[in-house]
Amino acid sequence: MDIDTLINGLREKDPHQTYFHQAASGLLEGLAPFLRNQPRYADPSLFARLLEPERVIIFRVPWVDDQGRVQVNRGFRVQMNGSLGPYKGGLRFHPSVNLDVLRFLALEQTIKNALTDLPLGSGKGGADFDPHGRSDGEIMRFCQAFMAELFDHIGSDVDVPAGDIGVGAREIGYLFGMYRKLNRSHDSGAITGKSPVFGGSLLRTEATGYGLVYFLQYMLQEQQESLEGRRIAVSGAGNVARYAAEKALAEGATVITLSDSRGALHAPNGLTQEHLETLDRIQEEGGRLHQLPEHHDGLTYESGIKPWRFPCDIALPCATQNELDEQDARVLVENGCRWVAEGANMPTTTEAIAHLVSHGVGYGPGKAANAGGVAVSGLEMSQNSLRHPWSREEVDRRLHDIMSRIHHKCLEYGGQGKRPDYVQGASVAGFVRVAEAMLRQGVV
Ligand code: NAP
Repeated sequence: MDIDTLINGLREKDPHQTYFHQAASGLLEGLAPFLRNQPRYADPSLFARLLEPERVIIFRVPWVDDQGRVQVNRGFRVQMNGSLGPYKGGLRFHPSVNLDVLRFLALEQTIKNALTDLPLGSGKGGADFDPHGRSDGEIMRFCQAFMAELFDHIGSDVDVPAGDIGVGAREIGYLFGMYRKLNRSHDSGAITGKSPVFGGSLLRTEATGYGLVYFLQYMLQEQQESLEGRRIAVSGAGNVARYAAEKALAEGATVITLSDSRGALHAPNGLTQEHLETLDRIQEEGGRLHQLPEHHDGLTYESGIKPWRFPCDIALPCATQNELDEQDARVLVENGCRWVAEGANMPTTTEAIAHLVSHGVGYGPGKAANAGGVAVSGLEMSQNSLRHPWSREEVDRRLHDIMSRIHHKCLEYGGQGKRPDYVQGASVAGFVRVAEAMLRQGVV
């Protein structure tokens, strides 16, 4: 199987989908050494199917803003691969959302969901809607209009959306409310990330950030190291960043940064749980990260900068795609950073990954390191089917177990060298499971 021919074919077919090409190239290059000795998986038509969504739904989302004006957004759902279970993946509300972004995210999701060992297919969706600065009423009307189109395409055995950038517990509540009304049944497993008040799993909110730190700890343990006393730069100030920071500092690390799309917050002496709780209150009231230093001494926020300039031992990119580029990687290496684990999806550019790896930095790709979120979404679906909620301790135990197994699989397929190759390990382990399901189900 010739990988260059496959990638060139993707470029010719959809020349503008550069994020998708980046994700597909990353996956295929991670698979290349394994595929050389695997005639079972050598048929290019297997890859043609793996890389093409089973179905894409695109729809108009008309809604009325607080001034009485009609607004129109574009909604999407990419139903990528259903061979392992119902399509599963988050919804993103952000102005940058388009088919390119969602195809890259859906492909990452295919490998990630396969890695969890749970019965989860893959999907991704969202809209080019910007929730920043919108009132609660506007958010609710937008979510209702979005679901008025999507409801016919989802269900607990069909397609199960969750949150992503711009879609948190509030949005999931409004989306589920409208789904329930239109569907005329309380099919609670049709959406995950719900409040525990109506069928959500305990620890789902924390799961991606906590799971990232668990995965990082397994990476460190493999090299006889620990988190204790490490300086960690975290990017983002949303769901993943917030809970990655919380778990890291609970495990004895010093978290020195957070960030958002406007700049970065620096805490030279480390963030505390109190800082994070103040940030929660600021955000609940519609405020932003730059307001945190107004409430606590020893914190600074600077516009227009990224967190990677501050010397750290570990970097956790938890904001968005391609937020850590080659120049950032050079600065991190020069300043002594030795570990990068991805809370966000594809936050590190191809060139940056090459620079980090060639300088001995341990690199944990998002498809493995941030799988804790979808894993607990899978556990939420189980609890919904059982009609019985599990305790926080039970969910945390299962999350630990899943992250440990994912790490173990990465070593199984990528651990031959002095340092494990987590890209190769995650790509191969996820691919083998989904490829086996596809091959055994025939050409569909
Ligand atoms: P979120 O709660 O909406 O937070 C996103 C954060 O990233 C915000 O602080 C946002 O800042 C920042 N950000 C967005 N665009 C940016 C840009 N262009 N440059 C710099 N910062 C930017 O979203 P999230 O759920 O934490 O998701 C973050 C990442 O994790 C995404 O890549 C997502 O796909 C991935 N992920 C999420 C989950 C999950 O369970 N939520 C699971 C797996 C992976 P502003 O407020 O300024 O926009």
